[in-house]
Amino acid sequence: MPLVSILDELKKAQAEGYALPCFDTFEMHGTLGIFDALEAKRAPAMVGLYSGMFDRPHPRALADYVRAMAEEATVPVSIILDHGASFEHCMLALSLGFSDVMYDGSQLPLEENIANTRLIVRAAHAVGAAVEAELGHVGRGAEYQRFGGQGKGFTDPGAVEYFVAETGVDFLAVAVGTAHGLYEGDPRLDLELLGQIRQRVDVPLVLHGGSGLSEEQFRAAIAAGISKVNIFTDLAVAASARLIAAAGAEDASYFGMTRTIREAFQERCTHYLDLFGATGKAEG
Ligand SMILES: [Zn+2]
Repeated sequence: MPLVSILDELKKAQAEGYALPCFDTFEMHGTLGIFDALEAKRAPAMVGLYSGMFDRPHPRALADYVRAMAEEATVPVSIILDHGASFEHCMLALSLGFSDVMYDGSQLPLEENIANTRLIVRAAHAVGAAVEAELGHVGRGAEYQRFGGQGKGFTDPGAVEYFVAETGVDFLAVAVGTAHGLYEGDPRLDLELLGQIRQRVDVPLVLHGGSGLSEEQFRAAIAAGISKVNIFTDLAVAASARLIAAAGAEDASYFGMTRTIREAFQERCTHYLDLFGATGKAEG
């Protein structure tokens, strides 16, 4: 399908009460597994490429590969820059044909986050891409008890309306108790805060740091107004576990290992598509 922004699909998800996943990828075999799942489950989704790709060799080759996969897919798939570190990274992503970008100014003072986001929104909209920004800061799971566990860094509900109006951002990542990577202790979601944010703005809301939440927590977050969920760590953990288990087998092989990565990604992505209610939403 032609590559287009995911915004319309996100608005549909918001209106109908399900969520779309953003699965990050760093290489080819995991990517194949993601698309296997999306095709089999007839689900729209985003594939995320992390902004750090621009600090590593061959960012264009990876972007071209994922973009070709998305264009060959028979379901709507957007390529989104994940945690865009700067205006420059967001512009590089757009120049490589990304259909959406996230800019992450969540660690900057509010007015600086607003100024940078506004500039990126203007540039992205000029080429038909939508923009995600982050208000409040979703930190690292390894440090969870120092912030999330104490309610620190959460999105200020009083600033949400102002931020969206000032920036013109299309969808918004919020900090309501999740964290990136593996959690130290158990995650606690502030669903009341999420509900307050939901009431104040119309844009689709995004949950980062999904890996490690229980199925009940995912369902509750989506019921409280989350329309996009970012998932990566769980895919990587599942693939790693399978590779370690497979490595000791008599018939372990290079090609077998690449299939193992692909199958692990497909299985976990399938699980999330069903859990989020995205299955079958590519049609109608
Ligand atoms: Zn994230």
